[in-house]
Order: sequence, then structure tokens, then C-alpha cells
Amino acid sequence: MTDGRALARAYLEQQRLLGGDAVILPEGPGGGRRESGEVRPAPATPPPPTRLPVSDLPRSGISYDPPGGDLFSADPLHQAASLDAVATLVSTCTKCRLCEGRRHTVPGEGPRDARLVVVGEGPGRVEDETGRPFVGPAGELLTKILAAIELRREQVFICNVVKCRPPENRVPQYDEIAACVPYLFRQIDVLKPQVILAMGGTAAQTLLNTKQSLGALRNQIHRFRGVPVIVTYHPAALLRNPNWKKPTWDDVRIARRLIA
Ligand code: SF4
Repeated sequence: MTDGRALARAYLEQQRLLGGDAVILPEGPGGGRRESGEVRPAPATPPPPTRLPVSDLPRSGISYDPPGGDLFSADPLHQAASLDAVATLVSTCTKCRLCEGRRHTVPGEGPRDARLVVVGEGPGRVEDETGRPFVGPAGELLTKILAAIELRREQVFICNVVKCRPPENRVPQYDEIAACVPYLFRQIDVLKPQVILAMGGTAAQTLLNTKQSLGALRNQIHRFRGVPVIVTYHPAALLRNPNWKKPTWDDVRIARRLIA
């Protein structure tokens, strides 16, 4: 699509000019996001510092050792060359306490050639019962969000940071995320998507290795191993607070424009 290519060129040029990782999309005149949410190319002379290097973000402490980086590693995850291979490893995983109460693991689903990866927090009750991510009311809302940017759910890889349901749908604990996140990282390495949409604070903080709030991380294009990351609200949060639908719409439109 023409807009996507134009934005991609602008994005790459902006990256070249700024030489950095994450790039803030400034509001208002002079570049970045317009009132309409449309993204405009960076001006020829870059404005004063708009760069926010990922390395400047406060670290969460999650290990960022790249899975698969060592071909001679004894870790089977390093050898998992497909999404199915990762899912098979997840299905028998007992690396954290979340294995104790699960009915099904929920590794994620979607096509191998997905251009967009959606990352949420963790499975809920229905997901645990079915083994599928983002089902139930939040999943239905995600399907509508994707349809609004002309993507069918079947075109997108949808997954979570942790692959087993936390009790009572609580937020995954630090050690649980640390144990599980190599599966997510491996999935992203296998998929090599064009964009990652991090939905909710847990997904955003995990992918970006930061403790910053979701609000502070929105309105920027971050990168995870070179892949642009857009941060927005989780559909479950939108069900509780409809006022966040408009900013979410702005976020997903940016993500859509980064897809060729
Ligand atoms: Fe393994 Fe992740 Fe499930 Fe924990 S949540 S048991 S690390 S698959």
C-alpha cells in the first residue's frame, strides 16, 4: 500500500537521521502524527531531540539473551525452528508455578507469514479452557480492532507474554515472565514480523525491557530486535474504560501504516 511504503521510507529516513532506536512521533505541526492520526514524513532538518534510545529506558531486568543465538546450545528452545516446535515445548513446560493450575497451555496462534504480531499479557479463563489466545469478550473486541485496520484475525499472530493462565487472572509475576518470555522471543524470531502491537503494560514493559508506564510508552515507535513496536491498551482494559478506544484507534492505525 502506498501509505505504508511512504511511512516506511519516512521511518527509515528518520532512523537514519536520528541514528537511534525508538522514535517519538511528535504531535502537531512540524512532523509526526497529525490530528487525524495520519503520519507525515520527518522534515528535512530534524527537530530538537526527538530520540528516545531504548537503552535509556529503565530496565526491567528480564534476560535478553537471544534464544537461538547459540547453535550448539543444549536448550531445545534454541533449536526450535518453527512455531509448532515452540508450541510443543510450551505444551510440556514446567518452568514456573503457572503450570500447576493450567488446563491448557496457550502458546499463540496465527500464520507463519503474519506481518503483525499482537502480544497480550496472559491467558484468561476461556483461553485456559480452549488453549486459544484472545477469545471471549476481549478477543471479540480485538477481532473488531483488527477489522478496523483491514486485517482479519487469521492474518495475525496472536499470543501472550506468559503461556499459562495466572490464578484468578492476576498479573504474571516477575519470575513467571522471566521463565516464559524466551518462548515469546523465539516466536518473534521465527516470525520476523513487520510490526509488533504490544497490548497492555505487561506486554509493553516485557518487550521493551522497561518499567515505564503504558502511558509513557505510547505515541512512539520502539523497536524489538529491529522490529517496530507500537504500544497500546489491552482490549480487556478497553472493555472497562471505553474512553481509551480513541487513543487505541490512533495507535493501531500507526501500526497499520508500518505494514507493507
Ligand atoms: Fe512454562 Fe510459561 Fe507455562 Fe510457566 S507460564 S509453565 S514458563 S509455559
